[in-house]
Amino acid sequence: NYYFDQAATTPPHPDVTRTIAEIMMQHYGNPSSLHQLGEASVQLLRKAREVCAEALDVPPRTILFTSGATESNNLAIKGAALQYSKRGRHIVTTAIEHASVYESVKQLEAWGYEITILPVDQEGRITPKQVLDAIRPDTTIVSVMHVNNEVGTIMPIQDIGLQLKTKYPRVLFHVDGVQGFGKVPLNIKGSGIDLYSLSAHKIYGPKGTGLLFVREGVQLTPLLSGGSQEHGFRAGTENVPQIVGMAKSMRMAVEGRITVAERMSHLKESIMDQLELIPELVINTPRELTAPHIINFSYPGMKGEVLLHMLEEAGFMVSTRSACSSKKSEPSGVLLAMGRTSAAATSGIRISLGNEHTDYEVGLLMEAIRSIVARLRHWKGGQR
Ligand code: PMP
Repeated sequence: NYYFDQAATTPPHPDVTRTIAEIMMQHYGNPSSLHQLGEASVQLLRKAREVCAEALDVPPRTILFTSGATESNNLAIKGAALQYSKRGRHIVTTAIEHASVYESVKQLEAWGYEITILPVDQEGRITPKQVLDAIRPDTTIVSVMHVNNEVGTIMPIQDIGLQLKTKYPRVLFHVDGVQGFGKVPLNIKGSGIDLYSLSAHKIYGPKGTGLLFVREGVQLTPLLSGGSQEHGFRAGTENVPQIVGMAKSMRMAVEGRITVAERMSHLKESIMDQLELIPELVINTPRELTAPHIINFSYPGMKGEVLLHMLEEAGFMVSTRSACSSKKSEPSGVLLAMGRTSAAATSGIRISLGNEHTDYEVGLLMEAIRSIVARLRHWKGGQR
C-alpha cells in the first residue's frame, strides 16, 4: 500500500519513536517533582524547548507546549480574546481556516464576540488590504493560516503581519503554521507574528503534541485550570517523552528542509502536469504560491469518496479533504469558498506528499488515477 495522505499525518520517524520509548522507560519523573528524577525531566524539557525555539528562531521562553495544534489554536484565539476583552470583542479570520480556528471563533461569537470572516479569491488567498480594511477600534486578534491544509495555498503572512503591525500595533496576529512548517519558509520574528501554532505529527513527530509560540509580552487567559506549568498558561503535567520527540522532529525538519521541499515540489509539478492531461478533472491547487506537498483535484459529478475508495482498492491512500472533516459528506467549505461549483466541491481529492516519496511511487499513483477515471468515464457514459 502507498500512503499519500501526509497532510493528515506522517509516519513517525524511527529515531523519534526510539527517543520517545527510551524517555518513557528511563526518565519518567514528573518535572514538578523536587527529586532527581523530576530534575532529569526538567532538564529534558528545557533542552527540548531550546531545540524547538531554535527551529523557529525565537527565544526559548516564548515556546509553550500543548497537546497539538487544535489546543494551540484554541488557546491562542480564545485565550487572547478573553484576556483582551476590555480592548474589544472583534476578531478577524478567513473563510478557509482549519476547524479548530473556525469553531473557536464560532464559540466566541456565541459568547458575544463579533467575527469578520474574510472571503478568499479563486486560489484561496486573502490580501493584506482585506485584513487592514476589516480592522475596527475593537479588533483584538487576526488569525490567518500559513498554508491551507486542503489545497496548499500559501497566505502572504509576512505582508499581512508587517502591514497590520505598522498600522495597528495593538492587534494580535495569530498564524496556524501546521501545514507550512518545514516546507515553506516563514520568518516568525520578522512577520509581526504574536502567536504561532504547530502540531508534531505532521512532521514525523508524535500525535497529541504541539506547541504555541507566544511573543514576549502577550498574555493569555488559560483555558485549563490547574497547576502552574508552562508559565501558567497551560496546566497539566508535561508530556515529556513526546515533547522531546517533537523537538527532534522539528530539528530534522529544519535540517532537511531545502532539499526535501525541492524534491517534493518536483513530484508535485509532475503530478499536476499529468492531472492536467485528464480532461474531466478540475485542478484545485494553483501552480504558484502553494506548498510543495499538497495537490487537490476534483472529478465533478463523482463523489470524492467513490474515487478515494477505488484508489484504496488499487493500493493508494489519499484524502477527500482535511481528515478532521472528511467524515462529513457535504461539499468542502474550502473549495466552495474558492468559488468552485457544488459538484466540484463534493468531489475533491487531496494527494499529499512526504519526504519518502519518489518518482516511482508517484508514477504508480498517476497510472491508477488515469485508469480509474477511464473506468468511471465509461461507467458514466453507460448511465446516459
Ligand atoms: N491546523 C491545520 C491547518 C491542520 O491541518 C491541522 C491538522 N489536521 C490542525 C490545525 C490540527 O492539528 P491536530 O489535529 O494535531 O490538533
